[in-house]
Amino acid sequence: MTKKVNHKNALEHPVFNMLTQASEELQLETYVIGGFVRDFLLNRNSKKDIDVVAVGSGIDLAKKTSELLPEKPNVSVFKNFGTAMLKTAGLEIEFVGARKESYNRGSRKPAVENGTLEDDQNRRDFTINALALSLNEKSFGKLIDPFNGIQDLEEKIIRTPLDPDITYSDDPLRMLRAIRFACQLDFKIEKDSLDAITKNSERIKIISNERITEELHKILLCNTPSIGFSLLHQTGLLSLILPELTALQGIDEIEGQRHKDNFWHTLEVVDNISKTSDNLWLRWAALLHDIGKAPTKKFDKKIGWTFHGHEFVGAKMVYKLFKRLRLPLNDKMKFVQKMVFMSSRPIAISGEVTDSAVRRLVFDAGENIDELMTLCEADITTKNPKKQKLYLNNFKKVRERIVDVEERDRVRNFQPPVSGEEIMEIFHLKPSREIGVLKEAIKEAILDGKIPNEYEAAKSFMFEKAKKMGIKTN
Ligand code: ATP
Repeated sequence: MTKKVNHKNALEHPVFNMLTQASEELQLETYVIGGFVRDFLLNRNSKKDIDVVAVGSGIDLAKKTSELLPEKPNVSVFKNFGTAMLKTAGLEIEFVGARKESYNRGSRKPAVENGTLEDDQNRRDFTINALALSLNEKSFGKLIDPFNGIQDLEEKIIRTPLDPDITYSDDPLRMLRAIRFACQLDFKIEKDSLDAITKNSERIKIISNERITEELHKILLCNTPSIGFSLLHQTGLLSLILPELTALQGIDEIEGQRHKDNFWHTLEVVDNISKTSDNLWLRWAALLHDIGKAPTKKFDKKIGWTFHGHEFVGAKMVYKLFKRLRLPLNDKMKFVQKMVFMSSRPIAISGEVTDSAVRRLVFDAGENIDELMTLCEADITTKNPKKQKLYLNNFKKVRERIVDVEERDRVRNFQPPVSGEEIMEIFHLKPSREIGVLKEAIKEAILDGKIPNEYEAAKSFMFEKAKKMGIKTN
């Protein structure tokens, strides 16, 4: 239990002695505070970034520390923020002067004035993030815990040091941080905090999309992201940040026919994929794979509920969503779009796995075929063990056929066996539509399995096709 921990053990690294020496020379009170202390007490992987607070100038302390270190690391000074940073021995040390903060409603940037350690602990977001260890010679390693953060660590509770209503309203980013920590650490958010987040959820609008997505990434990278997304949903934040997802919630019933709740299904899929892949963008794809289902939902008297074309619509929505949230509009987004667009393909072929269907699947998914299969496997959320086994087994077969077909035809990174230049040379053609038609016909013949993916076979097929098109060799 954390009570028996010797706090000095957190400060074994020689750099802490340097910090003590520097603060003695400057006659400053100095403490290490925040995430480093929290994670040490939780026995989590020790953090590489260390927050140091000095009662006085953090910038002066950083400069003095650098002087004392043998390699005299460069000190980056952020004058506007009154902070400084240096890197040494693989650690990143952030220095700040103890401060008192006061907020106004329109911004999450507070007015700042110099303060005591107590003031500085008061401005921290959570009791577990306000724990400080003394770096002063006389009290080296002493824990300063004014809000009973230790107890909250033991009881796994997220609580704010001051009135939660004010804390979250002052800086609404803290709402996302609370949920992210609950998800990362598997902690509960204390009731008053949860109520205050719900009450202040609209305040999220003053937070930049960049800061929001930073937290969403961290939630998605948790072991069980559904903990975070459920809390976002419960507090009303999700409908403000990702309305495309909350639109999936609910079960409609017409003439006794129901469809599944695609929101809760989606969260299960995200949890499933988090057991098999650490790829952030694949997790995004899992989160968004069904978003096209809300706008495409229809009821058909003969076949029941349908979501025709939801993959296509969903892929288009991915672009809009990425743009709005300022997520990157590069190959990462294209990957997510591709996964969403292709998310039903392996299921569609898993009943009867023909060679040509597998070849087309591998051709279209290209280098992302493994990730696509991983997504489809995560998409199985049936509670019926027999069905689950059957579906998994079907995908196993598809995977085996993929290996088989790929060994024979190598269509994963398809290169046309006869190049456009060669076609032009053989038929004395200038760049024209015919070349495209011939290349496409060769590709289709390979994918259909009419000819193998080989140069000679492709060339003779090309001559036949050219003949039919009335193209002459001379
Ligand atoms: P992690 O690195 O896992 O995000 P951390 O707690 O170190 O955890 P940082 O964002 O590096 O997170 O913040 C360092 C410390 O600064 C926190 O522990 C907390 O005390 C304080 N802090 C950070 N953001 C806020 C905020 N928005 N409001 C109040 N205090 C904050």
